[in-house]
Amino acid sequence: MKEKELKQLQEKEQYDVKYIAELREYWNIYFYALINEIFTGIAINLGMTTKEAYRLAKSKPSDLKKANFFKSIFNKFKKIFKYKIPKFRYKEKLYDKQKPIKEKQWKKFNKYLDNYWSNYAKKASEDITIKAHELGKQTTEFRKKKKPYKNKSLYQVNFEQYENEMPSSLIEAYKKYDFSNAEKNILNKQFSSIAMYVTETGTKIQEAIRQQIQTGIENNKSPIEIASDLYWNVEKNENLVNKYTSETLRKDWNRISSTEIATIYESGILAPYEAQSMKSLKDPSFAQYFIFTGGSCPWCQAHQGSLVRLVPVDIVTNTTNDSLSSMGIKDPNTDIAIWIGKNNIGYKETKNIHEWRICTPAHPYNVATLQPIDLKNEWYNPKTGDVEKRQKKQKFVPKQIDYTQKTKEEKEWRKPTFIGENLVRFNNNIYEGVDQEDYNKKLEEHRKNPQLPIPVNKNSPAYKRIFIVEKNKK
Ligand SMILES: [Zn+2]
Repeated sequence: MKEKELKQLQEKEQYDVKYIAELREYWNIYFYALINEIFTGIAINLGMTTKEAYRLAKSKPSDLKKANFFKSIFNKFKKIFKYKIPKFRYKEKLYDKQKPIKEKQWKKFNKYLDNYWSNYAKKASEDITIKAHELGKQTTEFRKKKKPYKNKSLYQVNFEQYENEMPSSLIEAYKKYDFSNAEKNILNKQFSSIAMYVTETGTKIQEAIRQQIQTGIENNKSPIEIASDLYWNVEKNENLVNKYTSETLRKDWNRISSTEIATIYESGILAPYEAQSMKSLKDPSFAQYFIFTGGSCPWCQAHQGSLVRLVPVDIVTNTTNDSLSSMGIKDPNTDIAIWIGKNNIGYKETKNIHEWRICTPAHPYNVATLQPIDLKNEWYNPKTGDVEKRQKKQKFVPKQIDYTQKTKEEKEWRKPTFIGENLVRFNNNIYEGVDQEDYNKKLEEHRKNPQLPIPVNKNSPAYKRIFIVEKNKK
C-alpha cells in the first residue's frame, strides 16, 4: 500500500464512542464556522453583497453544503455549548487599486482579527479541552462499572453525570473536582499546547488574507475573484496557493483538533490510575495494565491487543525509551511502558522506518484507546476488539447431588482417621507426620509422585490439627 493511501485511511478513523465523537465534531465545525465567517466578512469588505458572500462560502461545487448546515449542528449541541458566530465586519477598506494598503493598515487589521479570534476560538477551545478530559475520566468510570457507554451522547453524559453543568474552564473544574497536582500539570501543559495551535491558526488566517489580497491586486484580479480564491482555490498550484484558502485552513484545523482531542481524552482515561501506578513501583500487585484497542488503519490493526503497563509520568526521565526494564521495572507480562502524555511526535513510520510506539493517539486523527485489563479475570477478545471477562471453563454436565456426603458414614469417613503409625486419612487425602529434618526430602518426593502421602511437619500447626486431636480422642 502506498503511503498516501495509508494516510487517507488514518484520516478516516472515527470514534465508536458517541460522546467523544460528538465533541470532536463540534470543535471542528465551530472552527469551520468561525473561519468561514471571517472569510465572508473579507468578501463583503472587498465589495460583495452579504448575500453573495455567504452564497460563495456555501457553494463549492464539489462539496455542496446546505444553507442551514451549521445551524443544524449547532442546534444539536445548543444545550451544551452557547458559543455564537458573531459577525466579522472590518470597516476599513482592504482593497484599493489606486492606493496599495500600507503596513500600518495591515497591523490594524491584524489586531482586529486577533481580537475576534482569541475571544471566540480560545474560549471554546478551553471549554473543549476540559470536557475532553472529563469525558476520558467518565469512560474509565463506565468501564470500571461495566456499564454500556459507547452509545451515550454528549448531551446524555452532561445530563446524567453532571446535571447539565459540565465544567467549561480549567479553573472551574479545579474548584469543583479533585485534581491531583500531577493531573493539573499535565492538563495545563496540554491546554497551553492547544492555545498555541489556536494562535498559529489565527496567524495563518492573517497570512492567507493578506497574501490573497496582495497577489490579487498585483494580478489585476477583481474583488470577487479574490474573494473566491480565498474560499476555494482548488485548481491552483496545490503546494503554493492552496495554503491560503479557507478550505486548507479548515483541513489543517481538523487534523490538529482530532489529534489534540484524542490526546486529552486518553489522558483523562489514564489519570485515575496515576496514583496506583506509583504504588506499583513498590508493590507489583498494583501494576495496572492496558490493551491497545481501536483505530482502523493498518498500523492500528497490526498493534491491537498489545499489552502495556502504566508508569507514573514523574519517573519517565527519558521519553525516547519506553522499555520497562530500562526504568528498572522487571515485569513478567510486558516490557512496554506507557505514561500520560506519551506520544509519537517526531517519530517516523514509513515502509522502511518503523518508529511509532504504542500510545494513544499513535498518529494524527487516531482514535485508538487504551483499555484497562485485569490479567487474572479478563482477556482481549480479537473478535470484538474489546477487553472482556474471562469465561470460566464449564463442562456441560448437570451438577450431581452428592447424597453420600449426607450419610453419617460418609461424614465419619471424611474426618481425620489414623490408618497407620504416622498416617492419617482426612478429606480423602492421606497425610504423613514427619520430623522437621525429613520434611523437605519428603515434600520433594511427594511432588515427584503425588500418590505418596502428603508430608506434614510435626512442628507445624497443621500437624496439631490433623494428628494430635484425633490421637487424643482415640
Ligand atoms: Zn490508526
